[in-house]
Amino acid sequence: MAKDDSSLPRDFIRTIIDEDIATGKYHGRVVTRFPPEPNGYLHIGHAKSICLNFGIANEYQRGDCHLRFDDTNPTKEEMEYVESIKEDVRWLGFDWGDNEFYASDYFDRLFEYAQQLIRDGKAYVDSLSAEEIREYRGTLTEPGKNSPYRERTVEENLDLFTRMRAGEFEDGAHVLRAKIDMAHPNMNMRDPTMYRIRKVPHHRTGERWCIYPMYDWAHCISDSIEAITHSLCTLEFEDNRALYDWLLDQLGVYHPQQIEFARLNLSHTVLSKRRLIRLVEEGHVSGWDDPRMPTLSGIRRRGYTPESIRTFCERIGLARRDSTVDIALLEYCVREDLNARAPRVMGVLNPLRLVIENYPEELVEQMECINNPEDPSMGTRMVPFSRVLYVERDDFREDPPKKWFRLAPGREVRLRYGYFVTVTGVVKDEATGEVVELRCTNDPATRGGDSPDGRKVRGTIHWVSAAHALKAQVRLYDHLFTTADPGEIHDERFEASLNPNSLTTLFSCRVEPSLAEYEPGSFCQFERQGYFTVDPVDSRPGALVFNRTVTLRDTWAKIEKAQKKG
Ligand code: ATP
Ligand code: MG
Repeated sequence: MAKDDSSLPRDFIRTIIDEDIATGKYHGRVVTRFPPEPNGYLHIGHAKSICLNFGIANEYQRGDCHLRFDDTNPTKEEMEYVESIKEDVRWLGFDWGDNEFYASDYFDRLFEYAQQLIRDGKAYVDSLSAEEIREYRGTLTEPGKNSPYRERTVEENLDLFTRMRAGEFEDGAHVLRAKIDMAHPNMNMRDPTMYRIRKVPHHRTGERWCIYPMYDWAHCISDSIEAITHSLCTLEFEDNRALYDWLLDQLGVYHPQQIEFARLNLSHTVLSKRRLIRLVEEGHVSGWDDPRMPTLSGIRRRGYTPESIRTFCERIGLARRDSTVDIALLEYCVREDLNARAPRVMGVLNPLRLVIENYPEELVEQMECINNPEDPSMGTRMVPFSRVLYVERDDFREDPPKKWFRLAPGREVRLRYGYFVTVTGVVKDEATGEVVELRCTNDPATRGGDSPDGRKVRGTIHWVSAAHALKAQVRLYDHLFTTADPGEIHDERFEASLNPNSLTTLFSCRVEPSLAEYEPGSFCQFERQGYFTVDPVDSRPGALVFNRTVTLRDTWAKIEKAQKKG
C-alpha cells in the first residue's frame, strides 16, 4: 500500500491526522490501535474499526497499529476468543508485527498509577454497596451526592487499597473511585469506579489478581503506555472522553487524543456481541461460524473474500453520525469481487434427467468451457457431455407462460457449451404425476452451443452429464432476520423476528467433475445460480458441500436506483 498517499480520500479522521503531521504534533508519528475485548468473536462492525486503524497505520510513513486485547474482565474472557480474533485480523489482511499487547500486562502499572492518584487525593476507597453507589450517583437531571467514605485520609485509602489487592475483602466490599465531582453534568465524571474486587482467575494472569481495573481506567492508561497518538473509538464513548482526558491529566503522563466515529449498523442482522452470543447459545445458528452470522468467521465460511470486506469498509466511509448500512451493499461488494475472480462452473441444484434420444449411448464428448468471461487469462476447461444429462427442474415448464425461453415441449433451447436441444417427450411418475425425465433430440450441427445458420435460440441453460457429475449438498442462505432493523427489537420479541427460512439445504445436487479439485474455502460461480464456496468444515472429497455466498441478482443496484429516484 502507498505511504503518505494524499490522493486517498480524506475523511475527518485522516484530516485531523494530516494536520497533526503538518504541525509536528507527535513528531510525525501515527500510532493507532485496535482494542478488542476477548469475550466473543469479531463481527463485520469490528472489521470497520480494523480497516480504519490498520488502514491508517499503513497509509502513513511512520504509522503503526497495535493489536491490544482489552482483557480486564476475567469473567467473560477466554483464550479461545484471543485466538479467533488474531485469525480474523490476519484473514482480513492486516499484520500487527510485534505490536501485540494485552491490557492485563499493565496490571502492575495500573495499580501503581492508582496509588499515585490516591496519594494526590484524586482517588478513594468507597465502601458503599453497588446499589448505594447507583443511588448516590443521581440522574441526568439531578446531581449525585458524596459518599460518606469520600473523605477518607490518604493513609487509610492506601491501606485499604493494598488490602483489597491482597484479597482481604469479599467481592463488592470496596471499590476504588476517582474523586472528581458528584454533581458533574457528565455522569461519567461522578466519581467513576476504577477498580472492583473480583475473586476469579484471569485467563492470562491466573490467580495473581483479585482486583480488576474498569474499562475507562485501563483504556486511557494502556493508550498512554503504548504511546498511541490517535485513539479511535465508536460514538458511544463520546461522553467517556472527558474522563479519559481527566485521568491522564491528573497523572501528568503522555496523552493521546480520543476521536469518535459512528459504529457500523447493518440491516437484517445484529452486531452486538450480547445478541450474537444469544443466537449461538440458544441454538438459532450452528455456531459462531454459521455462514448466516455477521461474524468474520461466519462471513468467511459463507465465502466472502477479505478483499470484498475491505472494499465494503472503504465504501461505507466514516461519519460522526450513526446510520444503518443496507446489507445489500455488502453483497454487492462480494459479488463485484467474485465476478472478476471466480471461475465459472456448472452445477444443478434440483436435478431433472434429460435424455438426448438421438445421441449415441457410449459417446462422451469433452466440451470446452470458458472459465471466466471477465478474465480470458483464466482460460478454459473441458467438461464431459453425454446422452443422459441433468438439468435444473426449474428450467422446464410443461405448460410454459408467455416469454418462457427455457425448456418446454417442442421448444428449442441451447445447452451452454453443448448443443441446441428440443424436448420431444415428458416422462411422469405414474402414481404422483411428477415429471421424472425429459426426452429430447439435439441438432448435431450446433456442437459447442453455436448456431450454424444464424438460427436464434433465446434460452441458454446449464447442465451436467449424469454419468460424470459429482453429488453435492448445497446450502442456500437468506437474511437471518425478517425485519430490516432487528437491533431495535426488544429482547423478548427478538426470537420472533428470526427468519425461519434463512437456511435451505439441498441434498441431491449434481456438479461438474472439475469441482473435485477445489480446496475447502475456494470459490466459484455456479452459472446462473450465484457464487459458492466449498464449506471448509463439512465438505469431504466424495461428499462435497457448497455454501452459496451470494446470488447473481443484484438487489443493491435496484435499491440504489430507487434511492436516486425517490
Ligand atoms: P459489542 O458492542 O458488539 O459487544 P464491543 O464494542 O464491546 O462490541 P470490543 O471488543 O470492545 O467490542 O470492540 C473492539 C473495537 O471495535 C472497539 O474499538 C469498538 O469501538 C469497535 N467496534 C465494535 N463494534 C463496532 C461497530 N459495529 N462498528 C465499528 N466499530 C466497532
Ligand atoms: Mg466493548
